Amino acid sequence: MNYDIHKIRSYFPILENKVYDKPFVYFDSGASAQKPVQVLEAEEELHNKYYGNIHRGAHFMADKATEQFENVRNKVKDLINAKNREEIIFTKGTTESINLVAFSFCEQFVKEGDEIIVSEMEHHANIVPWQLAAIRKKARIVKLPFSDKGEILLDKLPELINNKTKLIAIAHVSNVLGTINPISEITKIARQNNVVVLVDGAQAVQHLNVDVQETDVDFYTFSAHKMYGPNGVGVLYGKRKWLEQMPPYQGGGEMISEVSFEGTTFNEIPYKFEAGTPNITSVIAFGAAIDFLNKIGLPNIKEWENDLLHYATKKLKEIPGLKIYGESNSKSSVISFNIENVHAYDLGMLLDKMGIAVRTGHLCADTVMQHYNMQGCLRISFGAYNTKEEIDIFLKALKKVLLML
Ligand code: PLP
Repeated sequence: MNYDIHKIRSYFPILENKVYDKPFVYFDSGASAQKPVQVLEAEEELHNKYYGNIHRGAHFMADKATEQFENVRNKVKDLINAKNREEIIFTKGTTESINLVAFSFCEQFVKEGDEIIVSEMEHHANIVPWQLAAIRKKARIVKLPFSDKGEILLDKLPELINNKTKLIAIAHVSNVLGTINPISEITKIARQNNVVVLVDGAQAVQHLNVDVQETDVDFYTFSAHKMYGPNGVGVLYGKRKWLEQMPPYQGGGEMISEVSFEGTTFNEIPYKFEAGTPNITSVIAFGAAIDFLNKIGLPNIKEWENDLLHYATKKLKEIPGLKIYGESNSKSSVISFNIENVHAYDLGMLLDKMGIAVRTGHLCADTVMQHYNMQGCLRISFGAYNTKEEIDIFLKALKKVLLML
């Protein structure tokens, strides 16, 4: 594999920093990835060269910004192989994308007594919006469980579906277990039963080639900030047939066709779901993040990160009393673990003092914590810029911390 890690790292000035006088090791890309210079420069260029509000401009700057903004819609369409650019809606992030569907889809298609299947390994962002919708519509949430190995119990899915089932909500990749879920198999079962599938791709799209047509998902959601892009921007992909039938999520400028006190008509998709001035700067810089991913190549990133995953997993397993949560063969570069008689929070705090950024706590996934009967754990997650040398630094620090504790 032709993977020039030195060049890749050179795009991320933040990695050169020292933390508490130690080299900075960033193992928290699952929470948010660092941003390459290409993204930082894209933001600056916009403000220096062609800023204006989009879609309503009667002047050069507004036209230019609109063109750049809409160009990113095309890039997103290509990235996930959507059929139509109108199926790409810009939101604030995965959380807002899921809330949009949970509100609008349920408003139109879910009625009292209906059921929504939610997997047990979801981030809170893919549980709570469905619970709120269920309260609103007097519907019921049904749990799709996972095994102790961290794999969805796919055999259970047909048993959970009945004529009241409207939708299945599931992560493409679990943010705790790292499991890459069998999305195509899930949509196949869903199709046979006329059930809609929403996939939370927040932990997937920066690691894997996603193809929404091949996997036949109805909705797919993700956040730019986990893909080396800016904060405050996300995507909702939705099949045209659903988006066209769903009512707007928010009202305001841009999402209307005509407004009067007698009644208002709505704009076409995607604008029907993009009320108000969007995060123009971040969407345009998001385009630079997609270019960055394409330039390195997602298959290369996947191979590189896979190597890191296997290396770190093997070494961690040598530590007595260490338990890894999520041991599927189909796994992304996330490792969550606990060590007997040691509090994950103490570990994380001491590692931080050695310059190593990890994540500790419930990881916004209480149902996963409940599955393993634990309060929290420690997670390391890798990005395109991490190295085996950093893993060695981390392991050495971890062993030192364990002696201290
Ligand atoms: N879903 C998963 C699987 C995640 O890992 C996260 C963030 O960690 C989210 C949803 C929420 O993403 P955001 O906070 O960008 O909306």
